[in-house]
Amino acid sequence: MITPPDQDAVDQFIAAMPKVELHVHLEGTMRPATLRDLARNHRIDLPVSDDASLAAFYRFRDFDHFIEVYVAACECLRHPEDFARVVCELGEDAASQHIRYLEVHFNPEPHARKRGIGFTELLAGMNEGRRAARETWGVDMRWIADGVRDADSGPISVEKTVDWIAGLSRTDGVIALGLGGREIGYPPELFAAAFHRARKAGLHVVAHAGETTGPDAIWSTLRHLHPDRIGHGITAIHDPVLVGHLAETRIPLEVCPTSNLRTGVVSDLAAHPFRRLDDAGVQLTVNSDDPPMFGTTLTDEFRLLRQQFGYGVADLRRFTVNAISASFLPPDEKQALQSRCDREMNSLVHSLDLV
Ligand SMILES: [Zn+2]
Repeated sequence: MITPPDQDAVDQFIAAMPKVELHVHLEGTMRPATLRDLARNHRIDLPVSDDASLAAFYRFRDFDHFIEVYVAACECLRHPEDFARVVCELGEDAASQHIRYLEVHFNPEPHARKRGIGFTELLAGMNEGRRAARETWGVDMRWIADGVRDADSGPISVEKTVDWIAGLSRTDGVIALGLGGREIGYPPELFAAAFHRARKAGLHVVAHAGETTGPDAIWSTLRHLHPDRIGHGITAIHDPVLVGHLAETRIPLEVCPTSNLRTGVVSDLAAHPFRRLDDAGVQLTVNSDDPPMFGTTLTDEFRLLRQQFGYGVADLRRFTVNAISASFLPPDEKQALQSRCDREMNSLVHSLDLV
């Protein structure tokens, strides 16, 4: 099939447009080759022996296998310089997609508990990578420290995370407390006190909710944790009152369509509620979650929005505007990022004759 010229121009626009990502997990961004190198450095056995089988290992099969790959990536992060490398490579991958700014989730408590990596040294490694990414590729990042709901250590995983991040300075880059892990069986009220403490310390708060659970879990997350944004939140579509509430209160959702497809949260993309939530006025952002493990990139997610839901240039721009507005940058930096992206988008639209 020959692609019509206008579609080709839109595809070029998608590839080159400035982007912002708010929901990506550091451990889930590790490149396969980096997993191989780190495993070799630390003498960790991987269930693969060559590059071809490594590529096959990374290919998404089912949720259990995804967890196996994710755990292998975490296992191979042993020293601060490993974290610096992964952050730096995330910066390089982001720059290749014209991502200007990212808010990156990471899981400090399991790294400390399972592998003895202290929070301060871990963060120092990440910030070394952040500095290199900024200087080399002009990509800016901030951190969201996630507590793990179903950690072997129990709710203390979230408490400890707050202990570590509550007293940091702005230059440390940690802007929010997050909440990840298994939703079912670990309701938000278990973490209400920790979230309260984080908010009192001036941190933003976000929580995964309504990915594998229904709208009731989103309601109770709003009630108990008072999140500034919700990770996923797509099952809100089953409750029109909740959809109306999210639209009215402008609580943004961090939506990750390919992730939802891979993990079986939606049966196929045609069933994904992205367009319906957007049409109902909910502030949506688009994200990649664990890109190499789900076989996607943020650019691919924008392509998917076009192909699956018929969005054009103006709407694709709008999702980047949404992400900037939903970000946790201070107002002056938010304004500067918005102006820069506007300038770049306008110039792209003109050069591709998309006016
Ligand atoms: Zn996530």
